[in-house]
Amino acid sequence: MNKLQSLTVLGSTGSIGKSTLDVAARHPDKYQIFALTAYQQDELLFEQCCRFKPRFAVMLDEPAGMRLAQRIATAGLKTEVLYGVAALEQVSSSPEVDAVMAAIVGAAGLRPTLAAARAGKRILLANKETLVMAGRIFMDAVRQSGSLLLPIDSEHNAIFQALPNNYSGNLNASGVSKILLTASGGPFRNTPLSDLQQVTPEQACAHPNWSMGRKISVDSATMMNKGLEVIEAHWLFNASADAIQVVIHPQSVIHSMVQYVDGSVLAQLGNPDMRTPIAYGLAYPERIDAGVAALDLFKIARLDFVAPDLERFPCLELAYRALRAGGTAPALMNAANEVAVEAFLDKRIAFLDIPRLIADVLDKLPYVAVNVLDDVLLADAQARSAAQDWMLH
Ligand code: NAD
Ligand code: MG
Repeated sequence: MNKLQSLTVLGSTGSIGKSTLDVAARHPDKYQIFALTAYQQDELLFEQCCRFKPRFAVMLDEPAGMRLAQRIATAGLKTEVLYGVAALEQVSSSPEVDAVMAAIVGAAGLRPTLAAARAGKRILLANKETLVMAGRIFMDAVRQSGSLLLPIDSEHNAIFQALPNNYSGNLNASGVSKILLTASGGPFRNTPLSDLQQVTPEQACAHPNWSMGRKISVDSATMMNKGLEVIEAHWLFNASADAIQVVIHPQSVIHSMVQYVDGSVLAQLGNPDMRTPIAYGLAYPERIDAGVAALDLFKIARLDFVAPDLERFPCLELAYRALRAGGTAPALMNAANEVAVEAFLDKRIAFLDIPRLIADVLDKLPYVAVNVLDDVLLADAQARSAAQDWMLH
């Protein structure tokens, strides 16, 4: 690509957002920032605006947006400040944008990410919740608009790299027998089961290999993150639940693998640093420097693999169940999980309540087919309300 790629970074103040700006800043000849967005961190967004001089900065929260606009005016920057969900959709779909990094956390990422898909953008997809909630709608939008969808989640990025270049969406036709989705097992892989009831948010967020936002860190500790990723892989690669095998690999060096019918297994390896898949997404089909140190195999010395323990990680089982049930079941599960994780982070429920709450919400609410976005949004609202009720009883 010769011309400068114009980039919108949704969730630029988060873990993935900051890593994206780090990679883009290494290649000012290739990338320029069109828009940066955040929920309410106006101070950090202001610093990013000073550095990257985007055309737009969007805050979801209006009071924070007003503070940002004031700072920007005082500093004499030309960045225009907008607020709210419609503005997020606008900067994701504007004709001046080439690529959108979808790095908002949770269900809040759905609308702007979908807007980018409908507008035919190159999408760097970190926000897995979009696919979990509305996989069919999102993938249809990608196909209809001709969007180029590049998975940023490290596992899916690895699978994308290990599948054939011209992968058609049919695993059988490509000779693939299984997708091997690796998982670190999180901070509680070896914690005695009897201690799990008492673990704190700080312990849950202390991931052994990756530094990430708090929501995905808790998801990694419950392994709901891997459950969400199974559903994500289902939509990205048109893989059935049976064709996706989770493999615990504590070193997080192999980011995932594809097993072929001839006995070959192709893996992608690297240091656990999200700048690798981000750089891949930015430059695809080329390769650029990501600022990531070369992998030192002698230092790593060994790679271990273990089957996941479903008694320890009931969330993984819940996610397979929701995927097999189909329709709105994954959206219900995702919403219940978001409420449960937030409550756990606020110390309102215990760690082991997270899977209990989700299982009860899934048992209580009916699943229906997903035809339009409103089916998903309604399921999301119902599950949030059922999850709040659960905590009152
Ligand atoms: P984070 O919490 O560090 O950052 C989230 C970003 O989203 C912030 O910029 C925040 O301001 C913004 N945001 C939060 N709530 C919002 C709302 N309601 N409306 C608009 N913006 C909002 O999260 P993260 O770790 O960067 O993860 C982002 C996404 O990427 C998640 O979906 C996560 O599952 C996925 N992901 C992250 C990693 C990682 O290493 N961090 C790896 C793979 C996938
Ligand atoms: Mg991942």
